[in-house]
Amino acid sequence: MSISILVFGSDHFLATLPDQIYNATVFSVEVIADLHQAIAHIQIMPPDIILMQASLDGSIQLCSWLKEQIKLSWIYCILLEDRPHQLANKSKYDCSWEFEMTSTILRQGADAYILCVETLQAKSPQQEKSLQGWHHLLLAHLTVGLRKVQKYRDLMHSNDRLSAIALADPLTKLNNRRALELDLPKQIQKARTHGTALSLIMLDVDHFKIVNDTYGHLVGDRLLQLLSNRIRHNLRFQDTPFRYGGEEFVILLSHTNYNEALVVARRLNRIVSDQPFTINSQLAVNITISLGSASLQLEDDNKGISLLNRADQCLLQAKATGRNCVVGMQNSWSRTPHLQTVSSL
Ligand code: GH3
Ligand code: MG
Ligand code: MG
Repeated sequence: MSISILVFGSDHFLATLPDQIYNATVFSVEVIADLHQAIAHIQIMPPDIILMQASLDGSIQLCSWLKEQIKLSWIYCILLEDRPHQLANKSKYDCSWEFEMTSTILRQGADAYILCVETLQAKSPQQEKSLQGWHHLLLAHLTVGLRKVQKYRDLMHSNDRLSAIALADPLTKLNNRRALELDLPKQIQKARTHGTALSLIMLDVDHFKIVNDTYGHLVGDRLLQLLSNRIRHNLRFQDTPFRYGGEEFVILLSHTNYNEALVVARRLNRIVSDQPFTINSQLAVNITISLGSASLQLEDDNKGISLLNRADQCLLQAKATGRNCVVGMQNSWSRTPHLQTVSSL
């Protein structure tokens, strides 16, 4: 794995760093000396590690800013102290200044604080030795940074996998009800922010119990998979299907008004009833579905409970009307008596 390092420092500062960081198979190095440019770069392409030149304007600010960013605070931040007046405080016999300064800098957001050594052209053996020691220390800190970054990446990777598992229905591979509960409020907020339409279809397989009772649950399972595939392949890019539970599904239709949602619902009704589902070479099963459709209204709550409830009422009405049909409810204030049956076969 290549470690990306952002050096927030001058070219002169860069020249003081150990040669090993130019090993392109291990490190990829970017150098920026301007605070705003550095922030923009970090936001677009977060590095694994930042090496900061303390004497550069904005270095402490950058440390503090970074640790306030929820999604960036994992970046390992090493502050290299090169300010002459600070280094002048360093004493061979009294470490209290160094302890004090380190505590302050760590509290301000750095993960490590290292005092630089002078890098004169002509060096005494003693200076050469301390420069080497400093380089070793810095490389050791890069190793610590790498360890942390690897741990963070592993964690993010397993987080992504667990989220995918938690939000997917294992049988149909559609998003599950938990995913709907997360997605619906977001879609409502988006629709309200942009002033766009949002509709929701709830559908349920008719007399599905008979399928299970007649052919067994494995055939029932296969049918749910085939039905999910057929629904998925007959939706537009912006429509998201969810398995709500059992043989019930919800479809979120963004940028879709009441009438457009009814067109989608009718199409789904037709594509399910028109063609049997081929379970195997000996068995093809005919099923129908009932659908309820509702569109977002001003008075709907932000979580989508009233919107879901309206679609559910429509679905119940579709069942009561004789199944294999679509029922829609245009206004949230119209209750059951105002339900409109749109298509009934
Ligand atoms: P209705 O037209 O009123 O909806 O009748 P229905 O038979 O479809 O409805 P009911 O609620 O009586 O039965 C639903 C059945 O769906 C019962 C349940 O065992 C079955 N079911 C739910 N989830 C699954 C599943 O994952 N696999 C299988 N095979 N069956 C399931
Ligand atoms: Mg059913
Ligand atoms: Mg049901």
